[in-house]
Amino acid sequence: MDRRIFLSPPWMSGDELPLVHEAFDSNYIAPCGPMVDRFERAFSARVQIPHAAALASGTAALDLLFHELGVTHGDFVFCSDLTFISSIGPAFHRGAHPVFLDCDEATWTMNPDLLEEALADANRQNRLPKAVVAVDLYGQCCDYDRLERICETYQVPLIVDAAEALGARYGTRSAGDAGMAAVYSFNGNKIITTSGGGMLCSRDRGIVERARKRSQQSREPMSWYEHLEVGYNYRMSNIVAAIGVGQLAHLDEILQKKREIESWYRAGLPEFAFMPEAPYGTSNRWLTVVQFSAENANKEGHPSATVECTRQKLEQENIESRPVWKPMHLQPVFQGCQCYGGSVSERLFTNGLCLPSGVSLTRPDVERVISILHRW
Ligand SMILES: *Cc1c(COP(=O)(O)O)cnc(C)c1O
Repeated sequence: MDRRIFLSPPWMSGDELPLVHEAFDSNYIAPCGPMVDRFERAFSARVQIPHAAALASGTAALDLLFHELGVTHGDFVFCSDLTFISSIGPAFHRGAHPVFLDCDEATWTMNPDLLEEALADANRQNRLPKAVVAVDLYGQCCDYDRLERICETYQVPLIVDAAEALGARYGTRSAGDAGMAAVYSFNGNKIITTSGGGMLCSRDRGIVERARKRSQQSREPMSWYEHLEVGYNYRMSNIVAAIGVGQLAHLDEILQKKREIESWYRAGLPEFAFMPEAPYGTSNRWLTVVQFSAENANKEGHPSATVECTRQKLEQENIESRPVWKPMHLQPVFQGCQCYGGSVSERLFTNGLCLPSGVSLTRPDVERVISILHRW
């Protein structure tokens, strides 16, 4: 059988291991150290957001932002419906009620019209949310200008979940350069990886400094252990930060390759609809996503038979693919939560499949996937 093709496996440039050695040699085998500082500086320079805190995961970064905003029992938090559960998970653990907002057909990101409607309703009912979490889905930025304007009208903080979007652009802005703060992820299959890790970035120095302090148990600057509040153990390890420094230096190469992979798929599968690219920006093409024609509106909460059979067919050939994120409003755990719209994300989930998009894919690898899709 042919070598397995994974969805989006880690890709190492070769610079990472010497940097890990450097971290070992410094003996900062700890959740702090010179590599963490170096990674933060390089990251901040790359995304052009002045303040950055390196953390254990993207989820931890979101949790710290919900802490910062004082999200607590009974609060409402608005969130993109089409996303990975982490976008809302930490707020849910704090006792917040999620309200989900469907995506815009043309971008697959939060529909600003629905946000406007939902905030107007919430304002009338005197229960404005503590935060709006907008997700840069599959590496495509949300419509930052519109979302920011709407959130400002109601004085509700906007958080950008750019976990999948490092390297994408919104006009001249980098993905994540919007709202009060943004989070990024360096999990194993993201655009760059540190095996696991995350970053919190903001133009507001205070937000990042408080998050950094809380990520290290909120210790006060005294020789003994003094605490004015209870923190977390969320800091990034100095060892994995070395991987991040090595990866980040190759981000442009990675972006170029991701785009090339998508163009190979587009050329080979002209009969398919692909995830659209919004006119206001440049997607990082983290994953190539295709849509099969909508055959059956599906009320079961499963991908369509075509999607599932195609996925199995690819799996039989040792190729990994994955359905589009299952919308949050269809998740059993969020049964009964409010959702504005929902039919767009449902349809994208029912008919969508994420194709292998790893940086080390060759054109023949992609041709192999394409030929299976054709045969099938
Ligand atoms: C991966 C991901 C996260 C979580 O990041 P981790 O580093 O895995 O905790 C959050 N939101 C989205 C949209 C993601 O894809």
